[in-house]
Amino acid sequence: MTDTKQIILPDKDHFLAEENPFEAMMSRFDIAAKLLELDTGLYKVLRNPQMQIIVSLPVKLDSGETEVYTGYRVLYNTSRGPGKGGIRFDMAVTLDEVRALAAWMTWKCAVVNIPFGGSKGGVICDPLKMSMGELERLTRRYTSSIIEILGPDSDVPAPDVNTNERVMAWIMDTYSMHKRHTVTSVVTGKPLEMGGSAGRREATGRGCMIVTRESLKHLGMPLKGARVVVQGFGNVGSIAAELLQEQGAVVVAVSDVSGGLHNPKGLDVKDVIAWREAHRYVSGYPKADPVANEDFLTLPCDVLLPAALENVITARNAAKLQAKVIIEGANGPTAAAADAILDKKGVFVVPDILANAGGVTVSYFEWVQDRDGYFWTEETVNQRLEEIMVRSFNNVLEVSKKYAVNMRIAAYTLAIDRVAAVHKMRGMYA
Ligand code: NAD
Repeated sequence: MTDTKQIILPDKDHFLAEENPFEAMMSRFDIAAKLLELDTGLYKVLRNPQMQIIVSLPVKLDSGETEVYTGYRVLYNTSRGPGKGGIRFDMAVTLDEVRALAAWMTWKCAVVNIPFGGSKGGVICDPLKMSMGELERLTRRYTSSIIEILGPDSDVPAPDVNTNERVMAWIMDTYSMHKRHTVTSVVTGKPLEMGGSAGRREATGRGCMIVTRESLKHLGMPLKGARVVVQGFGNVGSIAAELLQEQGAVVVAVSDVSGGLHNPKGLDVKDVIAWREAHRYVSGYPKADPVANEDFLTLPCDVLLPAALENVITARNAAKLQAKVIIEGANGPTAAAADAILDKKGVFVVPDILANAGGVTVSYFEWVQDRDGYFWTEETVNQRLEEIMVRSFNNVLEVSKKYAVNMRIAAYTLAIDRVAAVHKMRGMYA
């Protein structure tokens, strides 16, 4: 018998004020809007999502019982192009969170100046407790329930927490069956064999490496020998760590949900990856000291790269951090209340909407390649990613100098200015 209480959750209101993801995002939005002297009408438009969809998804379980899951899709803003944003399957999904993530996607696509708006989706479920068949039925039902808004020209999903290439393949197939022909460009993050892009898997970590290199260059700190601490050793964290080590940085600590590893002389990142592959988690790795997750972020280092969860840097621990540079690989790792503390300490923070934008940039490349039916080499992908990340970093830096603000507010200012400019040009349909 399925425990339905586990599955059917009301939208939760459990975030502390400083950790409510939508409010955290909006508190930065408000500062940027003020700097830009944003017109009051536009302010109202950009502070509200364009469309929020809630769907009930009946799914036949393997036991023969029926369960009904709740799914969301939020199109935050599509003035610059189709909605772009991942789909997460998780028990912690809430409409508030999906809305915040959709807004982040809007600003992120604008910061790197790619022709997408922002969207996000989620289904409240526990995929770890579901069979492959149940997951497939849930994915297909979710896709068909939001099919009117999906499409290469309207809204393009991608993987997010607990969704992957396989889920994208099911979405692409379901959408294509309804359209009566194959439409690869309806999702990104697909397997290479069915229209995925070379370099997509590494793209977010590679983008983090590029902005770390550019930050240190700007600050006059050598990358060679820079001590790096990486929280989260999944796709983003482990690839960023590996690429940073290749560039001469010394990765002194990494962690995952099982705990942290610390070696002040430097870890061999490839060796830790091999350990994780063999043992699932990093803990137990013999050539380092274990560190508890609560002590991890305050380890001595030059660069801290949070690449795991939201709200890990808060007003409670920000003062204790030792890093001079923070590169936000994760979405929303810093609560709004920590910003002022980090500013006061002189920490250079590269915000998520710039630092982890390498992923959506190569998703854009995937969409372009699918629509063209012509695929690029990995070198071409990496070279174009490099150009966009370096240009975007410099664009944000210029705005930060122009308005004398930190990189986060500069990134929001640049993004909101770009989205607002398109709204002004298009005018209002009323
Ligand atoms: P992932 O699932 O591959 O890795 C997450 C890692 O975080 C795992 O190693 C996990 O063990 C670790 N983790 C979980 N809880 C932890 C804890 N309490 N302490 C320390 N580590 C913990 O996910 P990912 O794709 O690498 O994504 C990481 C973050 O980056 C997320 O915030 C995601 O939204 C963001 N992001 C990812 C991409 C992408 O392309 N993958 C793009 C943009 C942003």
